[in-house]
Amino acid sequence: MTILGSTGSIGVNTLDVLARQHDRFEVHALTARSNVERLAEQCLEHRPAVAVMVDPEAGAALRDLLARAGSRTEVRVGAPALAAVAAAPEVEIVMAAIVGGAGLLPTLAAAEAGKRLLLANKEALVMSGALLIDAVARSGARLLPVDSEHNAIFQCLPAGYRCADPVHPHGVQQIWLTASGGPFRERLLETFHSITPDEACAHPNWDMGRKISVDSATMMNKGLEVIEARWLFALEADAIRVVLHPQSIVHSMVAYADGSVLAQLGQPDMRTPIAHALAWPGRMASGVDALDLLSVGRLDFAEPSPERFPCLGLAYRALAAGGTATTVLNAANEVAVAAFLEGKIPFTAIARVIDDALSAIPVEPADSLERILALDARARDYAWESVAGAAAEP
Ligand code: NAD
Ligand code: MG
Repeated sequence: MTILGSTGSIGVNTLDVLARQHDRFEVHALTARSNVERLAEQCLEHRPAVAVMVDPEAGAALRDLLARAGSRTEVRVGAPALAAVAAAPEVEIVMAAIVGGAGLLPTLAAAEAGKRLLLANKEALVMSGALLIDAVARSGARLLPVDSEHNAIFQCLPAGYRCADPVHPHGVQQIWLTASGGPFRERLLETFHSITPDEACAHPNWDMGRKISVDSATMMNKGLEVIEARWLFALEADAIRVVLHPQSIVHSMVAYADGSVLAQLGQPDMRTPIAHALAWPGRMASGVDALDLLSVGRLDFAEPSPERFPCLGLAYRALAAGGTATTVLNAANEVAVAAFLEGKIPFTAIARVIDDALSAIPVEPADSLERILALDARARDYAWESVAGAAAEP
């Protein structure tokens, strides 16, 4: 298999699961943007045929390090090498775990090559759902959700269900995506302007990369997941509901026409959905402790507040607008989150930057990769300008 983004939180968890299943999976390629030390360690432990480093200088350093350690892993550099290892003929399974729009092209390449595609990179579907789903349908690739909510929903659907097929014929009425509410579920709204990047990244239940941690704090993560669910399960927006569930034990739910609601429960540990997608349709050990409901004690559910989490509303708005609106939403969000993490804008400006981009950039049909990439670039430029404007405000 190939792991795109092996040095990130999902990548590390995937390798942890694989280390317990030595005989079942063979790692062909590992990839990273620039983390030399971690990718070197992973190469020495998992001995992939190929390692890809997007950053050329980091790639040269990795090549040096591996050569000195006597490793036989071939080091390739540059973004185009990502798509090549995703589509390589010797690869059956691709874990798409690059963060953000940077993951789109290699994820598409895996889909076009008909791989078993384990999808963590939700931004690829938000940017370009129609194209990715089309590529899967044309090649016969098998799409398996790794995002814990979508993996939970997939587990609650009938055994023969294939992602991207409509769920209504199976009697599904609606789905419930659970959301922890992140670190600011109860923080005083009046203090939101002073939220620091470290506070935003301190998630109460999950240990994740910084971008998705900020997305969880704004609840844009749940917004992106609503759009992800729209594509994975071919659902209308009004059949996708979001419910706050601070314990993160119920990972999501499916409501059927007869009144049954099926849920998947487990510890908040990504190794469960990763192992599920790797072993599907079977099951295998993941290293996650058994869930003890007696020690959890209680499960709470509540409605998310639109004032506290305006980004969730922005995601529904982009989904309703259709076409390239979700491409713009994703691009503006990536810029706003990066700007916040760099200390350029306050937490409360994130939603404003996204709102401005959605309002300013007209929706086009999402019918070609060229158009998606053009709109993505345009929205990023626009959002960086808004960031400069927001930073100049007193
Ligand atoms: P992370 O920041 O920890 O890791 C990101 C990985 O992508 C790293 O390996 C990094 O080297 C690579 N990368 C970053 N920029 C790149 C670029 N420009 N080109 C090529 N590679 C690049 O992120 P993460 O938390 O592991 O999240 C990865 C994806 O999985 C995201 O799309 C996220 O939304 C999704 N996801 C994560 C979790 C989680 O628990 N962390 C849960 C559900 C979904
Ligand atoms: Mg999730």
